[in-house]
Amino acid sequence: MPTCNFWIDGKQYTAEAGTNLVDAARANGIFIPSLCYFPHLDPPLGTCRTCTCQINGRYNPACTESVREGLKVEVYTPELVDMRKALVEMMFAEGNHFCPACEKSGNCDLQHMGYELGISTSRFPHLFQDRLIDYRPERLVLEHNRCIKCRRCVEEVFTADGHRVFMYLNRGNETVVGIDYEQAARLSDAETRQAAKICPTGAILLRGKTLAEPFGNRTFDLHSVQSSYQHPISEGPPATPRKKKTIATVSLAGCFGCHMSMLDIDTEFLEVAELVTFNKSPLTDIKTFTQRCDLGIVEGGCANAENIETLRTFREMCDILVVMGECALWGGVPALRNTFPLGECLEEAYLHSLTSEPGERTIPYSEDLPKILNRVYGCHEIVEVDYLIPGCPPAASHIWKVVKSLLWGGDDSLLYAEFKYD
Ligand code: SF4
Ligand code: SF4
Repeated sequence: MPTCNFWIDGKQYTAEAGTNLVDAARANGIFIPSLCYFPHLDPPLGTCRTCTCQINGRYNPACTESVREGLKVEVYTPELVDMRKALVEMMFAEGNHFCPACEKSGNCDLQHMGYELGISTSRFPHLFQDRLIDYRPERLVLEHNRCIKCRRCVEEVFTADGHRVFMYLNRGNETVVGIDYEQAARLSDAETRQAAKICPTGAILLRGKTLAEPFGNRTFDLHSVQSSYQHPISEGPPATPRKKKTIATVSLAGCFGCHMSMLDIDTEFLEVAELVTFNKSPLTDIKTFTQRCDLGIVEGGCANAENIETLRTFREMCDILVVMGECALWGGVPALRNTFPLGECLEEAYLHSLTSEPGERTIPYSEDLPKILNRVYGCHEIVEVDYLIPGCPPAASHIWKVVKSLLWGGDDSLLYAEFKYD
């Protein structure tokens, strides 16, 4: 094949004519985010639209284009970057993605794409649907809450004699992936493993087997596919001398793990203590604000009316509001209850749990207790949040890196390994 010249974001590159645009860009060091794209699928699926670029002036998925002489591609305009992020955020909001509890975590393309795009929470409300988890296949489990309908399984998984194993059922919003149990049972062990591997999310799982790879060995653990990957916190030289600032902290619906993590800073805490005065905080046991604060740090989401009130007070009393940890970002582990009606959760906890008295019929209630919300909310759903620190929990060094950068300036960034938490 002859080579051709093409342009990405105004720069000229060369590739063999006819090469898929995603591959040609990556071979030239340009990362075009993509999810459903598998180089050997011809024609490419083009279902997820994550790789949408402006190609010769028109918005098209890059995976469905080949390079040719004179092709002009825009990849990183602010509009395209935002649109791509929105698409992936929608996938997270549409399904139930609790990564720390997911068998695919660390090997999941969707999760990886979230990290690559710098997504720490979705701007769209989570639907928290309660979809079927299908345990009927002999060796597979189909977790419909994690399926992004990329069509990979439909197009790639066949029995040795050519029978399709997965198919789409229904239409529009109701579309789900179906499985032919008879044909699935005829897949060899290797083909069954491949079916689970082909799925870019944890929607197709091997029955009875979790992926017990330790952190560090999983596909996407330690590297980003982008040559430079950092999220700037603030820019500019640090202020010297550093003026003493006042911080308030609180733990809402969380496990207090983020606060414990803050204390893990060990001897560096001496430096922090010199630079910071703590106002309202469980670290000082000061119960109410005694003054306006420079920075408020919130752990945990909102599970009851008191959490909401406290969060609103923090927004009101703090110049900068930072939320840290997954519970504060989107609900985290307490939000696992969001897929069930509140009444069912209370019955499970007070009437049917292992520690309930046999025959117990009363769910405790008192007007003095804070009212439980219908679901757990991330902090940004209740008040305007200035900064989010991802992690479960975030490491002490990351928390203080962000705090110092926000309070006294400097050009620190969160790096890939710091942004990842699963
Ligand atoms: S499928 Fe991927 S994104 Fe979803 S919960 Fe599992 S690891 Fe997270
Ligand atoms: S089950 Fe997996 S491979 Fe199949 S459509 Fe859903 S996300 Fe894609």
